[in-house]
Amino acid sequence: MGTTTTRRKFIKAGLAAGAATMIGRRPTQGAGSADGGPSDSGGAPCVIASGNGLQSTAKAMRLLRQGADPLEAVIAGVNLVEDDPDDTSVGYGGLPNEEGVVELDASVMHGPTHRAGAVAGLRDIKNPSRVARLVMDRTDHVLLVGQGALKFALAHGFRRESLLTEESRRIWLEWKEKLSDRDKWLPPEEKKKELSAALLRALESYGTINCLALDAERNLAGVTTTSGLAFKIPGRAGDSPIIGAGLYVDNEVGAAGSTGRGEANLTTCASFRVVNAMAGGDAPEEACLKALKFVFEKTRLTPRLLDDEGLPRFGLSFYALNKKGQFGSATMFSGGTYCLHDGRQNRQRESAYLFERRNRRLETP
Ligand code: ASP
Repeated sequence: MGTTTTRRKFIKAGLAAGAATMIGRRPTQGAGSADGGPSDSGGAPCVIASGNGLQSTAKAMRLLRQGADPLEAVIAGVNLVEDDPDDTSVGYGGLPNEEGVVELDASVMHGPTHRAGAVAGLRDIKNPSRVARLVMDRTDHVLLVGQGALKFALAHGFRRESLLTEESRRIWLEWKEKLSDRDKWLPPEEKKKELSAALLRALESYGTINCLALDAERNLAGVTTTSGLAFKIPGRAGDSPIIGAGLYVDNEVGAAGSTGRGEANLTTCASFRVVNAMAGGDAPEEACLKALKFVFEKTRLTPRLLDDEGLPRFGLSFYALNKKGQFGSATMFSGGTYCLHDGRQNRQRESAYLFERRNRRLETP
């Protein structure tokens, strides 16, 4: 590595090393889902979530069984992850923006009333999904951002608190110190070169939780909540608070949500696309794969987002549930998971995928 190589280049080179990829296919198992299990809950209720949502699907199912509204159930489910300091992708403990400030995005959508609420760039409030719900219930608007969203939350009695944990502050500081060798921030001499496992994880993975539910009356609802991309530019809003991008629900058809590179969703309205494909008769998994293919085709127009093999440098996942209780998930690269409570059991399952991952490491462009 030449002396003029910046630390940012060093980070990227390190991440790209060892990448050897082949275009793969999903391991289709007859009419079942990617991991060979059933793709139909056999009716309602049913709850699906991103791979970090096992406790959320359990909680949401418990509430559905007690007769809770599906939106109340999924919000209570994701609140567990928002409150978890060890999950660095959502709520409290989420990784901050480039200035070390945690900014949260969330949206909710209620099938039976076709109403939605969302917040973006919300600081100092632990449960953005609950604020999003209040935007839906107690305003004539759908989306509140930044200071306005914070004032609205405070008006409703939310407590202001620091969302930065010691762990997320340390990861951010390491990123800042190693970002460039042309500024005045210096990492400790003995740790100058290598990146910690926690920072590597933050740089190559995405977070967020999406949770969708179908209740016994076959009503649908969904929520997506996140701290967004780690080290983003302050004020950046991702796909999670945008209805049609990070979340979409049509009570007559189904619900879909997403995690991963939000910018890819924002320019493709991908969750809306998934629900639309289900309206056209696609099974949920098929609809998710179709949306991923569309995202890939559009991504090919931007070479900086592609690696040497012409594949996306980023990850993206979709989760979908239809009115009949059929469900599915697909990710850009193999190895993705989702959580599913089908009324009988709650477990993590393998997602279908567009491309095979072979020692592949993703990077955040
Ligand atoms: N979709 C989120 C965003 O772009 C990030 C993530 O899922 O990790 O803000």
